Parts: sequence; C-alpha cells; structure tokens
Amino acid sequence: MAGQDEKQGKTKALRAGLLDWYDRNRRDLPWRRSRNPYAIWVAEIMLQQTRVAVVVERYQQFLGRFPTLVALALAPEQDVLAMWSGLGYYRRARMLHKAAQFVSENLQGNLPAKAEELRVLPGIGVYTAAAVASIAHNEPVAVVDGNVERVLCRFAGWGAGSRKGGGTVLRRKVEELARRFLDRTRPGDFNQAMMELGATVCTPRNPQCAACPLTAECKTRGEHKTARRAPMTSRVAGYGLVLRAAPRPSRRRGGSTEQVLLVQRPADATVMPGMWELPTLLQAEVPQSELRMELRHAIMQVNYYVRIRSVAEEDLEAMTATGGERRWVGLREAAGMALTGLTRKVLMRARLLASPAMDEIARQRGEAVV
Ligand code: SF4
Repeated sequence: MAGQDEKQGKTKALRAGLLDWYDRNRRDLPWRRSRNPYAIWVAEIMLQQTRVAVVVERYQQFLGRFPTLVALALAPEQDVLAMWSGLGYYRRARMLHKAAQFVSENLQGNLPAKAEELRVLPGIGVYTAAAVASIAHNEPVAVVDGNVERVLCRFAGWGAGSRKGGGTVLRRKVEELARRFLDRTRPGDFNQAMMELGATVCTPRNPQCAACPLTAECKTRGEHKTARRAPMTSRVAGYGLVLRAAPRPSRRRGGSTEQVLLVQRPADATVMPGMWELPTLLQAEVPQSELRMELRHAIMQVNYYVRIRSVAEEDLEAMTATGGERRWVGLREAAGMALTGLTRKVLMRARLLASPAMDEIARQRGEAVV
C-alpha cells in the first residue's frame, strides 16, 4: 500500500513537472492561440507529415482562405489542393475537404466534440481524434504520435528488443502507459507537452536529458536502440520550363503577360492525382550550359535531384514527354491552381510566382518586391 502511494506520488510530481516545463518552454505556434476545434483540426492534419516551420507558413494562409468549416466544405477541391500546395501528402487535403463536407451536410456544420465521434469522419484516425477532443474540449484522452512513443519508450526503457512480440504489442504497452500517465485536469496541455518534449528535448538523436522534466524517473536517460527508419533513396528527375507571351485578349482582361505550360497528372495516378506540374523532360540529364535550375525535393522516402531546363515552345514535342491534359496558364492564374509542391517551388525560385517568404527577405533587404 505504501509502495502504491509512493508510485502515485511520483507520477503526480512528474505530471506537474512536465506541465510546468511546458508552461515555461512551449513554442508560440499560431494554432496554440486558438481553442477553435476546426482550426485545431486543420493544424493537426497539416502537422502529421509536414515540418512545423512549413506548417507555420501555410496554416494562416489556409485559414485566411477557408476561415470556417463551412467555407472549406463549399470550396471546389482544386482550390483546397491549391492552398495545400507545398505541404505534400495531398490525400490529407482531400480527406479534410470530404470530412468538412460530411459535417456540413449531416451535422449542421458542427464538428463532433468527442474523440469517439470524430473518428467516424473521413481521414480522422485515433491520433487526430484524441488531439482535437483533448485540446479543444479538454476530453481526457491520451495522444500517441511518433514523438510521444519515443519519449515513453525511453522513459520506460523499452527499446528495439521489446519488439520481439511484434510492433503491435509494444504499441499497446505505450498506449496503456500514455493513458495512465495522462493528467486528467489539463489533458489538452498535457498531450501537447508530451509532443513538445519529444520534438524539442527527447529528440531522435542527442536527447537533452539534463533539461528534461522526466529525467529523475527515466530508465534510459539517453539515446538508445529503437527501430531504424527506412533509409532515403535518391532519384534524378528533369522538367521543362516552357514560357510564352500571353495572347493579347488575355492581357486586356487583366491576365499576366506571360504564360507557362502545365500538365495535369492523371486522375488515377497513385501520387498527387489531378494536380498540375511542369512537363517532364525526356532526358533528365541536362547539359550544364542549358541548366536553368537545380534543386533537391524530398517526397516520402525519396530524395529527388531535379534539373530544370528552359524549353522553347517549338522544341516542346521533341524534348518533353506527352501525357495528361496540357494547358497554357497565365502566371496569376497558376498561383491559384493545385500545383505540385515541386512546380510551385520552381516557379517561385524563377521569380515567376510570388513567394511570401522570399518577398519578406527582399523587403528586409530593402529590395523591390516584384
Ligand atoms: S531523460 Fe532523456 S531519454 Fe529520458 S525522456 Fe527525458 S530526454 Fe528522453
């Protein structure tokens, strides 16, 4: 009995220490300033597979364009994909849109408050449901994402060896520990504290144990063997940047003076169906003298080394692969289209599309923003 009391006392002290650490150290991120369930839901979906720095840049723009769940539900899918451009994993945007339409049509636009009810919606799994319900409504449900799993495995001393019984057994143990450890008075903050600890202190490499509020009871206090991530592979890809002067009537209607050729990916493509991109070069190897731009672009576990070549309109058929609908698009219109992240990146680097981040740098340097 005395042992049980001592254990409970230690758990209570750890929870208090973790919440105190979070109150003093949490990053000031835009979605943390809101308790609006819709805004929290959008942030949680964006954060699942995209770096925080990229989400910070895109989150406000997305909410500016779709400030409410109903506004998102009413928007055409191509607009939603356009606003998602650069965040990657576009299936998330499609599912978010579908779920918003479902809530709008069947639940009078009110996102359910309970985690169990949220899980019924398209694209909302255990993690997202628990995050939205706990952060927006203080429901005492524990969140377990990759960061939380790593913190708890290290805390409890469960390493790669614990996977003997299979990943599912370890996962269940982690979920059970997360449930027991959860602070039921501030579940939303507690869940965010655990995720923040994993993201900033108990990092995959070189955890900062001296700064960790769990260090006194942690079994590991340092990096230890966990399952290895699949290594990145590399591929070379080449795209053509084909530009022409816009026809006069389009200019008179306020269109831009230049048009770019874009190709739509097939609707049944496994990756990024229906999105617009630059035409693919038949030869990815581009002579140095004709190279317009070189960049690296990561998609899932693949690092693409991308070569961009300027292609004249008359050389189009000889130099690029056919396939997919092709369209000449004014640059202003292109900015609002569902472009792949890579295509948007290329057009921004070529200063053909505005980039808020690049414009800000130019402003700070006192340069003119084009
Ligand atoms: S003490 Fe170190 S290993 Fe343990 S949870 Fe904290 S940062 Fe992670």
